[in-house]
Amino acid sequence: MVEVSWIPLFKLLNGEDVRIPLVRIGDGSPRILFTGPVHGGEVSTIYVMWRLMEYLSSSGVSGGADFLIGPNYLGLLTASRNEPLSNININRVYPGLEKAGLGRSIAKTVFQVASKGYDFVVDMHAAGNCIPHIIVDRLGSDLDREVYSRGLSTGLPVVIDSLDVDEIRADMIGDSLPPHLIRRGVPAFTYEVPGPEYMDESLLSISVRAMINLMAGLGVVEEEPRRIDEVSQPGRAMIRRILSSEHPGLVEPFKKAGEEFRAYEDIAVVKDLLGNVMERVRYPGDGMVISIMRMGVARPHGYIGYVGVYE
Ligand SMILES: [Zn+2]
Repeated sequence: MVEVSWIPLFKLLNGEDVRIPLVRIGDGSPRILFTGPVHGGEVSTIYVMWRLMEYLSSSGVSGGADFLIGPNYLGLLTASRNEPLSNININRVYPGLEKAGLGRSIAKTVFQVASKGYDFVVDMHAAGNCIPHIIVDRLGSDLDREVYSRGLSTGLPVVIDSLDVDEIRADMIGDSLPPHLIRRGVPAFTYEVPGPEYMDESLLSISVRAMINLMAGLGVVEEEPRRIDEVSQPGRAMIRRILSSEHPGLVEPFKKAGEEFRAYEDIAVVKDLLGNVMERVRYPGDGMVISIMRMGVARPHGYIGYVGVYE
């Protein structure tokens, strides 16, 4: 059973509604919701959702799975991270508000759908040149442990966003969708797949397999979870830390996404216009590179990627 209903987001000048699809597969329980992308350029998430929909409609579901596709409608068309009319990052304004610009109103619509009785919610994003991975929020909630073990059940690396880490708090991660759902008793995490420019068939199939593992563990599908051999899952918990460079310059990475590093090992260097090394990008602890720029310009104090640092 596949049903499509249309969720209105906003009106056009001719009075017509802009609507996005909510695809419902199976009518049993438990039920899972996949939603995204609220960052317009992260369209590789939609390819993953299509594959999951194909899988579920051909192999059958014992529970149910829903897909809310393309909430940042204008952002999709313009490949912009923020909602373009309001210039709002939807992922920082949950649970949303109806009367404070389109971005907040879309956040409210997504939140209303996501908080309606699901047993698990997956908020889908794409993190550039990364290995597919799970981000869980550490909120001190009763659900923290369950969400973390659901993360591990995917077979992918799991990184923890701890709201007492300054750069995570500064980025207002606490107002992304999963923390607000968890506070209302709905287990949820963020799922990061490679950005569209870095996605290929092998990464796409890993990204899909991981979500089948999650659904198998939840009982949405009757299948045995399978190991994912292409990525390694460290036996220790990892906290997410941002990699940045004080100096602006051209980035040259030494580590790939998914590779482990030792404390103070060079993860990347930042060079000036003549190729002189201005800065070595390191971390004072062991961990795993999760997402990293390949080539390009780092801005002053700018983003280069992020790592999971072992606790
Ligand atoms: Zn995103």
